[in-house]
Order: sequence, then structure tokens, then C-alpha cells
Amino acid sequence: DEKLLAALTPQARNEPDSGIVKAAMYGFTVPGIIPLWSGEGNQPTPEAFARPAAEALLNGETFYTWQRGIPELRDALARYHTRNFGRSFEPENFFVTSGGMHAIQTIVQMITSDGDEIVLPTPAWPNYAGALRISGAKPVEVPMNFANGKWTLDLDRLFDAVTERTRAIALNSPSNPVGWTATRDELVAVRDFCRRRGIWIFADEVYTRFYYGDNGETRAPSFLDICEDEEQLLLANTFSKNWAMTGWRVGWLQAPKALGPAIERIVQVSSSGTPAFLQRGCVAALDHGDAFIERQVLMARHRRDLTVLMLKELPGLQFEVPQGAFYLFFGIDGMTDSAATVRRLIDEAKVGFAPGSTFGAGGEGHLRMCYLKDLGPLEEALGRFVDWMRRHG
Ligand code: PLP
Repeated sequence: DEKLLAALTPQARNEPDSGIVKAAMYGFTVPGIIPLWSGEGNQPTPEAFARPAAEALLNGETFYTWQRGIPELRDALARYHTRNFGRSFEPENFFVTSGGMHAIQTIVQMITSDGDEIVLPTPAWPNYAGALRISGAKPVEVPMNFANGKWTLDLDRLFDAVTERTRAIALNSPSNPVGWTATRDELVAVRDFCRRRGIWIFADEVYTRFYYGDNGETRAPSFLDICEDEEQLLLANTFSKNWAMTGWRVGWLQAPKALGPAIERIVQVSSSGTPAFLQRGCVAALDHGDAFIERQVLMARHRRDLTVLMLKELPGLQFEVPQGAFYLFFGIDGMTDSAATVRRLIDEAKVGFAPGSTFGAGGEGHLRMCYLKDLGPLEEALGRFVDWMRRHG
């Protein structure tokens, strides 16, 4: 085995497993555990989205398909955005991918070569660093600040981290794990800086609909509000979160039209195209899913408030009530090994969190939980955690 492993690239050999995956693998062997580590709810995909996919499969839509996505889905993406972003969008700027992760990997492959850098704020979803390192590129982490119960991003620090090797600033807003959401002014500052320096804006807006603004907004501020379609903006998105379709593995990439051939080349040698029958279900989700999203976001807000209510009396816990996404990222006073705490919580409290250490600089000392869960299991899991903290915290 040693010999076989030595024959791999250093990236394939050494890339650390995500702590979330490790926690899950460890926890799956423990009976009766309530897992809050993964980024998904426990509702299956609504039948209205699943049926057209099942029908297309049974009707023989089982052949190789368009590298850019079926035209009907690209049209539906343009319609959805035109409806939700108050300006018109063209289908030619949308490229269907096999999940949000595949959109991110496609972006990384398009804009980085060995040794190139991408600057990103942390704590951040670990798959960014993973996607970069596996391609030989380098994540440059800029830790956010947590003070007075609030996460903030120092833009000067972010811009100072940009070097000759930097190809993009990656911004995930609303963010996983901390829920930080960029204001329109912050997005404008990043846009202007990237324009000046001629580098890419790499936007991840997969949680844009999960936004708990105080003024009835239905989404977070977006680069799509302030950027031109044909400028240096690459935006990753997914069907996973809004429409409860995590297992489908369908997402999309928004990019200037001129990049079409490059995206096709990369898709050809990765997925070779996302199954056409799945894309039929995604058309239904986009065209008929608005009420579903509204219900999901309302539920997420309610679960967030319940989580905050149950945890806020615990001494030694600090967190910001998240403005977006569906995670609570909380610090525990005195905790220096979040992975060890996660293992103890699995064994002793039968509840599963993700260790903060996996989210990069500034993440250690924290745990992340997903609160987009059915009420019963969520209350039970939080109750177990509160009891455990009272005994051991
Ligand atoms: N971006 C962020 C910030 C995420 O949290 C996730 C999933 O957890 C994704 C992208 C990718 O989504 P998908 O499941 O479609 O690959």
C-alpha cells in the first residue's frame, strides 16, 4: 500500500480530509446520534421537482448531453434571475454544473495554475482550500474578526493579502460557517478593487436566499446587483440548498459569455455534462419553487431563533446571531481542540457537530451546527448539548 500511495501526486496523498467528513465518519458508527454536522435539512426534495426528473428518466432521456446544460434549464435560470434580481439576464451567461462544488472546481481550474493564489476570508467552507490545493494552487486566508458579538471583515487586510500571484478574491456571502453577509458597500469595494487590479471576483452565493434581513428582503446583497454580466466575475451556485436537492448534484456557474468554450473544455474532462433528466427537475424547481423557498427560509429563521434561545443562557458560549445561511458557529471558552470536543460530544451526548478547526484560520475554538432540521430532532439535539455543557463545559 505504501508503494501505491507513494505513486500518487503529493496533493492526492496529503490533502487533509475535511473535519466535517471525519466527524461524520466517526459518528456514523455510534447508534442513536443526532447529526447536525452536514449542510442540509432533513426534508426530501418536493415531488413537484422530483417527478419531471423521474419522468424524463423513464422516457429515455438517458443520453450524453450538452456540456453547458440543456437549453431549457439555461432559459429557466435566466427567468429565475430576471424575476429575483430586478434586471434582465441572458441564458448564455449560465452554465450547468454537477453541483455547486463542481462549479467551484471548474472556476479554480479555469483561473489558477501551479502556485497561483486565491485570497479568501476565514473561517470558510473547507472545500475551497481543498479545491485549490488539489489543483496545486494556494489559498491565502484572511481571518475575520470576532468582537463584541459580531464577525467583521477588514477589507484593507483582505486587499493587502493580494500579491502578484493572486488570481481572485473569493467571497462567500452569506457565509458558511459564520453567517456573515456582505453589505452592498462592501461588495462595491471588492468589485472596485478587483477591477483596478484586473483580478477575478470569485463569488459563492449559494445561501443568498437564506437571508434574515430586517426589512423583508428575499435575498442578500449580491454581486449580480452591482456587476456587469461580461466582467471578471465568476459566480458559483447550486440547486442543493434552496430546493432541498443536495443529493442531486446539480448547480450552475455564472460567467461572461466569452468563457463558454473554456467551460465546455473543462466540463468535458470532468463530468462530461450533468444528466439531462436531472436538469428537467431543476427547471421545475426554478419555475415553481418560489413558495417552497419562502417556507424553507421562514422555517430556517424559526429554527435559528429557537437555537439561539436554547443556547444563549449557557455560560462560556459566544456567537453572533447569523444574518444568513443556516449554521450557528459558536465559540466555547477554553476549548482548544474542537475535533476532540466533537468526538466527546458524539460519544457522551450523542450529538454531532462540525469542528471549527476545519474552517481555516480563526476557526479553532468553535463548533458549527446546521439548524435547518425538523423541530423534534433539533430540540432533542440541543437539549443533549445543553445538558452536556452543564455537566462538562
Ligand atoms: N458553497 C458553500 C459555501 C457551501 O456551503 C456548499 C455546500 O455545503 C457549496 C458551495 C456546494 O454545494 P453543493 O452541495 O451543490 O456542491
